[in-house]
Amino acid sequence: MKHNEGILIVVSGFSGAGKGTLMKKLVQEYAGYALSVSATTRAPRPGETDGVEYFFLNKDAFEEKIAEGGFVEYACYCGNYYGTPRDYVEKHLMEGRDVILEIEIQGALKIKEQYPTALLLFVMPPDAQELKRRLTGRGTEPPEVIKKRMERAVEEAEGVEEYDYIVVNDDLEQCVKQLHEIITAAHNTPFRNETFIETIRAELNVLAKGEK
Ligand code: ADP
Ligand code: 5GP
Repeated sequence: MKHNEGILIVVSGFSGAGKGTLMKKLVQEYAGYALSVSATTRAPRPGETDGVEYFFLNKDAFEEKIAEGGFVEYACYCGNYYGTPRDYVEKHLMEGRDVILEIEIQGALKIKEQYPTALLLFVMPPDAQELKRRLTGRGTEPPEVIKKRMERAVEEAEGVEEYDYIVVNDDLEQCVKQLHEIITAAHNTPFRNETFIETIRAELNVLAKGEK
């Protein structure tokens, strides 16, 4: 059985949970995923390159793109805009690819409205202390931004039940494997295989009649 329709996959999680690290490994280890690159108005971190981690836009350019309908969704997170470029998502879904959006919860809910069959995954840290350790240990945000992001995590935690699955990012390799397994299993849900099911039904009808 070949499944030809791509799945729109949303990956969210608290800042520092390891989403970026997981997505990088997932696309390295498993072929075929199309990882969307978002646009943002936040400043690049050391080592980040325009067009790789994000498209870095100023506020005016971002708002112009909003006005043009250039985003499938966008949201404000801790004082900056983040948005998913429409072209990339639509093109790759049309080609039957699995498209991954690594986005926060407000954006995830907007995607769910527009694409009710999207698969929503939430990355959890093993515990809250470890989350703070990772966020601090990354060394990319000053203490006041870390505080804002931890406060935002408290709010985001209220929305976890909106997601289809949670995955705990304790052992990185294990978590990447689990993400891939969940996505693989999602391809086998009946509602994503209606054409195949109808074909089998029709074949069974023909065969059963012939055996009267
Ligand atoms: P996010 O994208 O969710 O904000 P990152 O991918 O930047 O998080 O990860 C935050 C920090 O935690 C990084 O320094 C990263 O190397 C580290 N990290 C990610 N996953 C793990 C893990 N499974 N175990 C230990 N450290 C991790
Ligand atoms: P960071 O600044 O750590 O890269 O990202 C901050 C938050 O913005 C993360 O939760 C990340 O998933 C989210 N994010 C990244 N891109 C997008 C996007 O295109 N749309 C939305 N809604 N959130 C995004």
